[in-house]
Amino acid sequence: MSRPYNFSAGPGALPEPVLRRAREELLDWRGSGMSVMEMTHRGKHFARIAEQAEADLRSLLAVPDDYRVLFLQGGATLQFGAVPLNLLAPGQSADYLLTGAWSKKAFGEARRLGLARCAASSETTGFTAIPPRASWELDPAAAYLHYTPNETIGGVEYHWLPDVGEVPLVADMSSTILSRPLDVRAFGLIYAGAQKNVGPAGLTLVIARDELLGRASPTCPSVLDYRLQAEADSMYNTPCTFAWYVAGLVFAWLKERGGLAAMGQVNCRKAEALYAAIDGSSFYSNPVAADCRSWMNVPFTLADPTLDATFLAESARSGLLDLKGHRSVGGMRASIYNAMPEEGVAALVDFMADFERRYG
Ligand code: PMP
Repeated sequence: MSRPYNFSAGPGALPEPVLRRAREELLDWRGSGMSVMEMTHRGKHFARIAEQAEADLRSLLAVPDDYRVLFLQGGATLQFGAVPLNLLAPGQSADYLLTGAWSKKAFGEARRLGLARCAASSETTGFTAIPPRASWELDPAAAYLHYTPNETIGGVEYHWLPDVGEVPLVADMSSTILSRPLDVRAFGLIYAGAQKNVGPAGLTLVIARDELLGRASPTCPSVLDYRLQAEADSMYNTPCTFAWYVAGLVFAWLKERGGLAAMGQVNCRKAEALYAAIDGSSFYSNPVAADCRSWMNVPFTLADPTLDATFLAESARSGLLDLKGHRSVGGMRASIYNAMPEEGVAALVDFMADFERRYG
């Protein structure tokens, strides 16, 4: 029996081969006699799992040797606080670019913990575009510049790298990491909650340039201190072992599929197909400026919002799950992360055309 297509924004769909592999290994991981869930994180079995996952992630993203990869907990939301606690010295200020709900939240948390400035914002125009680069008011002495390469709710994505000179670039890549190749060297620090393109909820990736470790404020809780976590190989305390293991299976699956260049091509085609369907109809619309439409999260509205409930009920009956838009913006949202096959997007496009014929 085929599984339905899951368009959830997160926790989102995982690749089916990964789920099957996890099921096969659930009771006995490779002759160990134990489930990964039952293993000590200090033992040789989990050490193998952890090392392989990190090695595969490093090869996928071509992470340079002077960057540390951390497998942490607490979600991206905890990183909203961890970043300033680690990188913002007293008297220093950090710059934030606001392009949607998540960057706004990150900024709010930073302001609770230190000095943070908004360098540019598209809020007054409804977070439907990226403020033009020429309008950014950057502080050349900022401790870092934080931005959100993909806004999961608004569906706004940077398709270019902000050039910020010497100021370390910090990115919340929760909903775009691993969707295409990335130049890690352009960043001081990258973080991402796992539950979209990486693995199960609970795991949080941090990739940080060595020189940014060891700057934590004296009041930073130890478990959030990047240097302490790096020294302990992300095991300062008990890590989320099972999520780490499943993420490792996802990395292996991505490598089998040809890595991030291949994924990027597939993701680009998926997004183009869906936006073409939206733009080609007068029934569906997407408000985001054409040059920054997300490849991963595609929000759209129906011309007649009283049809929303019918659209959702009928799409679910057709095996297209979780298309409801975020409660703050309404309408629909199709999240088409790596695990969504092109056939899933094609099925959605067909359903949308059929729905429009019947109700439009
Ligand atoms: N940042 C982005 C871009 C997100 O999409 C999300 C979750 N949807 C978060 C932060 C918050 O992540 P978490 O719930 O893992 O803390």
